[in-house]
Amino acid sequence: MADSNEQSTVLLSQCTGAVFRAATVTLMAVVCPSRQCGVTVPVVEGVLDAHLGMAGDCSLAGARVVDDRISVADTADASNAVVSS
Ligand SMILES: [Zn+2]
Repeated sequence: MADSNEQSTVLLSQCTGAVFRAATVTLMAVVCPSRQCGVTVPVVEGVLDAHLGMAGDCSLAGARVVDDRISVADTADASNAVVSS
């Protein structure tokens, strides 16, 4: 069993668009952040579905999509309040 193939990840904030279902709970699709791509790709169980970009098979297919909005909001609230004058 080859475990050396590290799974790539895509941050939701890298995508120029995202489609949610049920009030931003379930991520259904994202706009692929690859420059040669830019198509809307279904997200199946948190993973970018296979799709074609302008250069053929997109290398980001199979990448895990990480929803970084929540953690960003959390950390910003908790530890990022260092603004004072
Ligand atoms: Zn792509």
